[in-house]
Amino acid sequence: MFEQAIEKNKDNLVEDVLKCVGINSVRGEAEEGSPFGSGPKKALEHTLKLAESMGFRTRNLDNMIGYAEYGEGEEMIAVLGHLDVVPLGDGWDHDPLGELCGDRIYGRGTLDDKGPMIGALYALKAIKEEGVSLKRRIRLIFGTDEESGDEDVDRYNETEESPVMGFTPDADYPVIFSEKGLARFRIEKNLDSKTLISASAGEAVNQVPDLAKAELRLEDGTSRKLEAQGKAAHASTPWQGENAIAKLMEKMAECQLPGDLKSFTDFFSACVGDKTDGKGLGIAHDEGKFGAVTVNAGLLEGNENRIVIWFDCRYPYGMDFEEAFKSAAQKAADFGLHAELERNTPPLYVPEDSVLVETLQRIYQEQTGTKADPIVIGGGTYAKAMKNIVAFGPVFPDQENVIHQKNEYISVPNLLNNTKIMAQAMYQLANA
Ligand SMILES: [Zn+2]
Repeated sequence: MFEQAIEKNKDNLVEDVLKCVGINSVRGEAEEGSPFGSGPKKALEHTLKLAESMGFRTRNLDNMIGYAEYGEGEEMIAVLGHLDVVPLGDGWDHDPLGELCGDRIYGRGTLDDKGPMIGALYALKAIKEEGVSLKRRIRLIFGTDEESGDEDVDRYNETEESPVMGFTPDADYPVIFSEKGLARFRIEKNLDSKTLISASAGEAVNQVPDLAKAELRLEDGTSRKLEAQGKAAHASTPWQGENAIAKLMEKMAECQLPGDLKSFTDFFSACVGDKTDGKGLGIAHDEGKFGAVTVNAGLLEGNENRIVIWFDCRYPYGMDFEEAFKSAAQKAADFGLHAELERNTPPLYVPEDSVLVETLQRIYQEQTGTKADPIVIGGGTYAKAMKNIVAFGPVFPDQENVIHQKNEYISVPNLLNNTKIMAQAMYQLANA
C-alpha cells in the first residue's frame, strides 16, 4: 500500500541518509547542553528538523533522545533506533562519512542505525501521504547513546510515555523474540614473582581479540616477548573467530613459569582453552529454543603485580546466571584465582504468540515472500531498555553483516525494502 509513496521519495531518502551519515556522531566529551558530546546532539537536532519538515510533531529531551510523532489516539506504538555511531575506524575504501557508490550507500551508521531510522521517517511520511486511518499514534524515537550505555533511553523512561508495542530496527530479520542475557566477569591473580612484565589483548570485551602480547622476565635476567594472532569476531558469535588470548596462554604455558603465573595458565587451559561453551567453567547450559551459553575471553591485562582476563558471556532465557557463576568462581578459587561478576543484564523474552511478534512475523513473510521463524540473538539491543519492544531488521538473513566494520554500507534496494517493511509494520501495529 505504501510502496509507491516510498519509491517516489527514493532520491530524497538516499540523500537524507547521506546527510545524516555525514554528521560524525561518535560519543564525545560532555559539554554544556550536549551530554554525549556535540556529534550526537547535532545528529539529533538535524533529524528532528527533517521530521518537522515532513509535518510531524517533535520533541527533544535534553539533547539525549528525541522523537517524532504522527496520528491521534490514546495509545502509541514506537519505532526505537539510534543516531550515534561507533568510531569510524581505519581501512575504509570509501568515505566513512557517506558516499554513494553504485547502488550502495557507504558510511558509518548507514546500516547501524541511521539508514534504518531515516528509512523509518520516510515510512511514516508514506503513511501520512496515503492518509490511512490509525487507531494509535506512531512515534519514532531517536536515541543518541545506544553504542555507549543507553543513558538516552533511561532519560526517556524517566518522563515519557511507554509504547504499547514497538520494534527497534537495529539487529536482524526476521523478528527477534528473545535476546540472551549478558554477563561480564573477570578472573584475576595477584602476582609476587615479578616474572610477568606485561600482557595485553583486546580493545573491547565484546570482541574476540585478534592479537595478544606478553613479555616475560626470564631467570637469567633477559626478557622474552610472546605474541599470538587470532581472528576477530563479535562476542555473541565467538565461534566465528579465533581467540588470540587462548593462543597466548598456550604459548605462556610452554615457558618455565613460576607458581603464581603457572596457576593462571593452568586454570586457563583446564577451564577455558579455545572453547566458547562455558563447559570448563561449569556454566555451560543449553535452553533449547532460547539457545546456549557462549563465553568469550575478550580482554587481557597484566603487569608485574597482577594478571586479569575479562569475559563476555551470553546466556539463554530461563537460566539463573548468578547461581551458575558460583561454580565458575569456585573453579577459579581451586587454582588460587579470584573471579568477580561485574555486570549482569537479564535476557529478554516476548512470547512468539504475542500480537507484537506474530504481527511482525506475518509482515516479514508477506513482504519478503520467505517463511522464517522468530529467532534468538546473543547480541543485546534497545529492546532490553524499553518496555514492549522487540528487535526487527534491518539485516536480512542472507545479507553480509558489516555493522561496526570498515566499509559499512546499506544497499539502496535494501534500504527501500526496509522502509516498506517498516511502513507496513507501523501501520499494522497501530491498528492491531
Ligand atoms: Zn545499533
